Amino acid sequence: MSAPVQPTSPHVMNTYGRLPIALSHGQGCRVWDTNGKAYLDGLGGIAVNTLGHNHPELVPALQDQLSKLIHSSNYYHVPGQEQLAAKLCELSGLTNVFFCSTGLEANEAALKLARKFGHDKGIERPEIVVYEHAFHGRSIATLSATGNPKIQAGFGPLVEGFIRVPLNDIEVLKKTTQDNPNIVAVFFEAIQGEGGIHPVQLEYMKQVRALCDQKNWLMMIDEVQCGMGRTGKWFAHQWAGILPDVMPLAKGLGSGVPIGAVVAGPKAAHIFGPGNHGTTFGGNPLAMRAGVETIRIMEEHKLLDNAARVGAHLKAALEREFEGLAGVKDVRGQGLMLGIELDRPCGVLLNRACEAGLLLSVTADSVIRLVPPLILSTAEADEIVALLAPLVKAFLAEPIK
Ligand SMILES: *Cc1c(COP(=O)(O)O)cnc(C)c1O
Repeated sequence: MSAPVQPTSPHVMNTYGRLPIALSHGQGCRVWDTNGKAYLDGLGGIAVNTLGHNHPELVPALQDQLSKLIHSSNYYHVPGQEQLAAKLCELSGLTNVFFCSTGLEANEAALKLARKFGHDKGIERPEIVVYEHAFHGRSIATLSATGNPKIQAGFGPLVEGFIRVPLNDIEVLKKTTQDNPNIVAVFFEAIQGEGGIHPVQLEYMKQVRALCDQKNWLMMIDEVQCGMGRTGKWFAHQWAGILPDVMPLAKGLGSGVPIGAVVAGPKAAHIFGPGNHGTTFGGNPLAMRAGVETIRIMEEHKLLDNAARVGAHLKAALEREFEGLAGVKDVRGQGLMLGIELDRPCGVLLNRACEAGLLLSVTADSVIRLVPPLILSTAEADEIVALLAPLVKAFLAEPIK
């Protein structure tokens, strides 16, 4: 089982600065590396492992599916697609779903929907409003929509047709778009994830909804990271009581099995027809089973309530721990999507937390991000704080490099 961990990989492309461990197996919110060292999982594979590891109900269901059919083809009907689409429509209040395999693919489909929505209205050069610090993926189109120059550097020319505005400022949005007849959609994450855990204000979401109605634009909310129960509602925009027209999903939807989806309401549900969009893997029986069972288990075990309750507990404990501590700028987020912003880059905490037996991430250079499985218990939340707080305090006591 244990392969030696190499400091650099001779054959895998060097696209990640990896920590010097390899995980071998997990149980619940715990994982073990190939040397047998245990870790508490505050990362959940970056908001992916909704049900933690080796879930006693998910694993047998997937084993059953593996032995029946892993993949067929979109040449045929896939009953699991009907089942999962119906469930996602019930949970979201929207009407139709396209399935793919990743977050960027879901966003790519959303961008194509928006462009065709424009072309169908006679707009030949459609433009989409996107946001500063947004992250939508790393394909050419989605990195163009992303608001991070580091992710774009080296990959120009970027895809055109995006207009960028700051988050949570309705006046700037109105001003920037007022004389532009080419706008077709507004596209944002309900809580920016990679950009540093920046929530969109509920009032702003309502104002954007009204503006999209008034101007006949699509409201497209990227729920790839903040969706699927993470904030304590199925989708983070539901806290604002609004409905989007287009909602890309991925990450947590399959508890680790690759899956993506674009969920659309009436304004966007019938834009694509046969031949307009497709993908070989999207909606395959294994991924559909993972999605259906993930949602079923979440409902059965009331994991939305758990995410809200344990998330609030974790946030309060972090606030207590860091209150008045110079160097901690903010503790923010909702449910089990939390960020601790420091006043300096803190990437080194990744290694130190790993050594201490805690998996987490650092995003936007100075924000410690916690996106654990939604089965996290309050005792495990307390354990995260007990592991993390001394590391942060010691780090902040060091001279700034
Ligand atoms: C992770 C993420 C994506 C990209 O998903 P991939 O599966 O990595 O392509 C897109 N949008 C948001 C908000 C994300 O967090």
